Amino acid sequence: MCHGFPSDPSFYTFLFQIDQDIAASVQAAGCYCGGVLHSARYPRKPRGVRSALDETYDYRLSFCCAASDCRRRTTPASVRFLGRKVYLGVIVVLIAAMQHGLSPKRRQRLIEVLDIPPQTLCRWRKWWREIFPTSRCWQAERGHYVPPIQASGLPDGILGKLEGKDLRARLCRLLLLVAPVTTTSWSGYLRTAIDPQKM
Ligand SMILES: [Zn+2]
Repeated sequence: MCHGFPSDPSFYTFLFQIDQDIAASVQAAGCYCGGVLHSARYPRKPRGVRSALDETYDYRLSFCCAASDCRRRTTPASVRFLGRKVYLGVIVVLIAAMQHGLSPKRRQRLIEVLDIPPQTLCRWRKWWREIFPTSRCWQAERGHYVPPIQASGLPDGILGKLEGKDLRARLCRLLLLVAPVTTTSWSGYLRTAIDPQKM
């Protein structure tokens, strides 16, 4: 667990680059009122593999409309922060993925190292099985899988179907897939794609 994924800083740098891509396209599109979006990132203190994270993880990318009669906040989707959850999105996925993620031993080790309380694990399972399936994001996505992925098989089922040379590559794709649920102040179309060369 102390070596390689998921404690490899390069993985988190890569995720930050994806967040920057998403944010750049959101900023370029501007506010819905037509105003210009200025950077208004806000502080975060994500839990999970802190030693692998640099200062870019101390904040979430966000914007504020420059028009004085608007000032609306727009927070782009993120592959790093899963909404308001205090743990990194990748941890919330990894711990919930029973079959296609880490080996049971490494998964258990990760839970111990990060000291994740049982109630939190319970809440995540509930989120994947009851909240995420009702999201617009999953409603739009679910039809792409044959046979269909049941709510009881989330997020494992998706992880098992995504292409990628290894777990980290498939995780990146999964985080991008669920990224629309990470914000309520932006609902545009996610144009960002992952370049396998950089993974
Ligand atoms: Zn505006």
